[in-house]
Amino acid sequence: MDKIEQALKHYFGHDTFLPSQREIVEQVVSRRDALILMPTGGGKSLTYQLPALLLPGLTIVVSPLIALMQDQVDRLKVNGIPASFINTSLSNTERIRRESEALNGSLKLLYVAPERVMADNFLALLDRIEKNIGISLLAVDEAHCVSEWGHDFRPEYRQLWQLRERYTHAPTLALTATATERVRDDILTQLRLRDPYIHIASFNRPNLYYEVRQKNQHTYAELVQLLREQAEASSIVYCTTRKGVDELCECLCRDGIRALPYHAGLTSEQRTEHQTHFIRDEVLVLVATVAFGMGISKPDIRSVIHYDLPKSLEGYYQESGRAGRDGLPAQCILFFGHGDRVKVEYLIGQKQDVNEQYIALEQLRHMLAYGDSQTCRRRRLLSYFGETLNVENCGNCDICLRPMALEDRTIDAQKFLSCVSRTQQRFGMRYIVDVLRGANTQRIRDMSHNQLSTYGIGKDRSIDEWQYLGRALLQQELLDESTDGYHILRLNALSQEVLRRQRAVFISVPAVTTVAHQSKTLLDPASQRLFQHLRSLRRVLADEQGVPPYIVFSEATLRTMAQLRPQTQAQFACIPGVGDRKLEAYFTPFTDEIRLYCEAHNLSMGLEPSLVGREQQKDPALASLLGPAPSSRIVTLGLYREGRDIEDIAHERSLNPRTIIGHLVELIESGETIDIERIVQPERQKIICNALQALGGNMLKPVKELLGDEYSYEEIRLVRALTRQGQ
Ligand code: ADP
Ligand code: ZN
Repeated sequence: MDKIEQALKHYFGHDTFLPSQREIVEQVVSRRDALILMPTGGGKSLTYQLPALLLPGLTIVVSPLIALMQDQVDRLKVNGIPASFINTSLSNTERIRRESEALNGSLKLLYVAPERVMADNFLALLDRIEKNIGISLLAVDEAHCVSEWGHDFRPEYRQLWQLRERYTHAPTLALTATATERVRDDILTQLRLRDPYIHIASFNRPNLYYEVRQKNQHTYAELVQLLREQAEASSIVYCTTRKGVDELCECLCRDGIRALPYHAGLTSEQRTEHQTHFIRDEVLVLVATVAFGMGISKPDIRSVIHYDLPKSLEGYYQESGRAGRDGLPAQCILFFGHGDRVKVEYLIGQKQDVNEQYIALEQLRHMLAYGDSQTCRRRRLLSYFGETLNVENCGNCDICLRPMALEDRTIDAQKFLSCVSRTQQRFGMRYIVDVLRGANTQRIRDMSHNQLSTYGIGKDRSIDEWQYLGRALLQQELLDESTDGYHILRLNALSQEVLRRQRAVFISVPAVTTVAHQSKTLLDPASQRLFQHLRSLRRVLADEQGVPPYIVFSEATLRTMAQLRPQTQAQFACIPGVGDRKLEAYFTPFTDEIRLYCEAHNLSMGLEPSLVGREQQKDPALASLLGPAPSSRIVTLGLYREGRDIEDIAHERSLNPRTIIGHLVELIESGETIDIERIVQPERQKIICNALQALGGNMLKPVKELLGDEYSYEEIRLVRALTRQGQ
């Protein structure tokens, strides 16, 4: 392992780079400017975070969104990387403290908003940093903000070139997920990059499944079903209007699906609160207008559902692209109805500016073509960005995956073959189809083929359908084609049988029913249950530290843990996503949980990665015995209601007492009435409640610090759950 790979594992816990990350890191470390265009989830952050650790001095990251800065810094910190941010949300004292950290070299990355960077006093600070410890790198995130052509123009970005000139030896790295050529050129010139290394990744997101469903009176029921299928995972549902969001959200809640709204009509506190609940997996469904999403880096969103028609395909790509950032399977579903089209057209008609109207109509046209498409959705999306997909069948969209059914097309085949016969077997496919469909072309008139009995007898089918049939006849050798390059169609003995009604013709066509798409890769049932326990544990730990669960470990990491069931430090360290810092912090709670579970269920632990598949195949009987998992929480609830205490339930279920409390908390938060007086006496509840109120609600840690050792995290969580339920 070389230095770069060692750092990758040590700090981030990854064993391998994602495509092209390594090349970019190498270029940046050699101090070359770079422009990186990569889709969401491509792993852009690492391309400046790793160089920041390898280069001496401090890396400045310009980032436009406060929420995103906080999130990035949290992630770095749990990996033990000294990072901080400075923006307007800080008090003066806090800002000064962070500035001096930057100055004395105890930070490796400093995130700053663009409007701050260019302020005089900040430039003075940068000068001092440069003198003391050196500026190693300038990373400009969301670099499309520099362009008026991008979707989020920020005038301050236009001044960032001054940094490039001021600290000449520090390379500039510009990053964006916006793909158009205009934006790219703008970034290059506006930021004045010097001989930059340019990397343009494919915008294909293979892990995303695309599907379009007709919007009709059953749509709401389908949505409910979709969300129920995803019961353990996060979903975003997009609607066009605030009213639409509120109404849909209400309906969902009435139907027992906990959902929160998000739109510009809410106060900014409400928006932050709803976003926080969503990010922390406390609520799994967010119903939102497009106001939601920019700056959300939640990696484990498993579905993005568009309940209304988006205005443009670029918008659709961005919004749907918020699914599956972690690279695991996720689904993007669009409910597509012509009623929506009329609404959008009406709105466009209201625009005053003719040019704006024109652009909007063009965008709508592409969107409609996507919805109506009978060819691969992915191909459509990518071709919109000027990219061609180089396989025929993407294998992960509704069109490519639709099941085919055999259909009797004998009559159509007879029409087709008889047309070939009557035109003297002298023409190719396209001409035959034209005659069948009664096309009014010069050539047909010249040949007097508009006089034939077969002229126009196939008007009821489209060109595509006839060509599809023609190709099927060729494939089944019911028809021949010349090999001289002219592709002349000719009848053979089998064709004659069809024409004489001695042979029926069946071709495979898309079946009417659609199969339910499997958006999760399956774990075997035992690992799946262990995975759910590890997820609960992750929530508990995240909650105590006041960070979103995905910052503790990603879903992919938990899945691998559930499969390999590590017990030793070495095994734990091998799991992708476990770096040195996380090994130290999480080894004990996770391996304990795994051991308890495995011992109780007679599962082997400490498996070799290469054996995982086999281990599961070896024992199909075990898998079927386990059957579908009843919700673990419900089992806990049953025992609790029998009057058993927490230790007792934990013992019986071979789980951590903490996990049991976690179940109760989740149950309370989802509306279940549970008497917790047995665990937290009323007086204690009151004191905790007061502390929660005094400190404004959500964070556990400050409350724990205020109350001291007398009170446990578990008690505080239970009481907080009760206060939330009342809201
Ligand atoms: P982007 O900013 O391009 O949308 P991120 O930097 O947020 O992407 O990374 C997307 C996801 O991929 C994150 O969950 C991150 O932890 C993960 N990731 C990044 N690099 C690697 C790697 N080398 N191996 C495994 N996972 C990675
Ligand atoms: Zn496809």
